[in-house]
Amino acid sequence: MNEFAAGRPLVLRGGTVLPMDGRRVLPRTDVLVTGDRIAAVGPDLEAPGDAAEIDASGGIVLPGMIDTHRHMWQTAMRGYGADWTLTQYFVWYYLEHGKLFRPEDVHAGNTLAAIEALDAGVTTVVDWSHGLQTVDHADAAADALQAVPGRYVLAYGNIQQPPAEWTAAPEFRDFVRRRITGDDMLGFQIAFDVLGDPAFPEKPAFEVARELGAAVTTHAGVWGATSDDGIRLMYDHGFMTPGTIYVHAASLSADSYHRIAATGGSISVSTESEQSAGQGYPPTWAIRAHGIPVSMSMDTSVWWSGDLFSAMRATLGADRSREHLEAHAKGDTVTHAGLRAAQVVEWATRGGARALGRDDLGTIEPGKKADLVLIKNDLSPVSFPLLNPFGHVAFQAQRGDVHTVLVDGRVVKHEHRLLGVDLAAARRQVERTVEHLRSEMGEEAWERGMNPDIPATKILDNPYTYTDYRSSSTHRL
Ligand SMILES: [Zn+2]
Repeated sequence: MNEFAAGRPLVLRGGTVLPMDGRRVLPRTDVLVTGDRIAAVGPDLEAPGDAAEIDASGGIVLPGMIDTHRHMWQTAMRGYGADWTLTQYFVWYYLEHGKLFRPEDVHAGNTLAAIEALDAGVTTVVDWSHGLQTVDHADAAADALQAVPGRYVLAYGNIQQPPAEWTAAPEFRDFVRRRITGDDMLGFQIAFDVLGDPAFPEKPAFEVARELGAAVTTHAGVWGATSDDGIRLMYDHGFMTPGTIYVHAASLSADSYHRIAATGGSISVSTESEQSAGQGYPPTWAIRAHGIPVSMSMDTSVWWSGDLFSAMRATLGADRSREHLEAHAKGDTVTHAGLRAAQVVEWATRGGARALGRDDLGTIEPGKKADLVLIKNDLSPVSFPLLNPFGHVAFQAQRGDVHTVLVDGRVVKHEHRLLGVDLAAARRQVERTVEHLRSEMGEEAWERGMNPDIPATKILDNPYTYTDYRSSSTHRL
């Protein structure tokens, strides 16, 4: 019998609970789950007699993490673009090879991405799905998301056509009617970028989104691609709304940040992406001063892994690094860090819930959805001492420490093992996709795509000719 049969109450006993309703830390606290909801939070809770128990002692319980921007279809090419710049990414996916992806390839990528998210304690993902070149691709994307037990938002996009075109297609409307039924496990957004053309060709796509009641998510402030011009166009036409998620928002002026703040939208920061790919400096150091809500994302597994521990760590590093450098440029010293570990943990949990308008996610409180993560690894020397739980999550923990994951009250990972997930089938699917792409591209293009040229580095002339320490005056005896 399944220890965690559907409908059976469950109690996580004695963990250090981070409810994320502020900065509280609740030591030795139980969390009781009945059905899809958190029923109670407190010490030594009475649980129903038939409740399953999970020993959370020595571990940290936090809300399921939320990623607000992940191109899940690209997970089938995991790690291929490790050495890319954004330009190489655009050439590979947008211009040269993106069209090779068949519906089954989108399905393969989405399936693996969804499993990967659950494994790492990411219980909600916005699938920024811009490879939907036909509605068959979209059906495949949705099929995959509905087959894996996580919470997803399908952000429908299509980089092969202008947004005004594909959003006007009757089959797109029909897809929304058929597949987006108000199920809270599969939300819906519309995903496209605003390129800054003064004629604002994206306007009809915004109108479709408004008519459908769907939020728009857009890559904003991406160096060389989207700029302040796009923000101004959206603002002037009244399309900046509280539901809008601005991804990256890295190369924007203060004026754009004011417009985002004033209209209530949020920014999805993908620090590892911004650092490596070149959208602009990871913006948290700047947007904190504007009071703009932040959520976290990892962007694409073609470069990075779908792991928000990594995102939290990179974001703290980038923000603090920038704060130090800005101070040093003025001859000052930062004596107190502005960005705290607790803040990035909040961005990775409650920040995502806020961005998605989901009041029922992102905190551990009675009545909220039971999307929970237990970080616990008794075999790891990094699991103790547990002195600063927020610092532990942000800087010490990693995906292998994710012991248990619940989504919608259902245990999907326990004792470090995924439940109800067919990893072998996902692997076979992804292997078929890789085979397909590789043979369509040809071996030479495949290799060239993965190994871009390295620009020559000139070793600087060095004015010092000192080579022998014995000739140094300080060593002369
Ligand atoms: Zn992206």
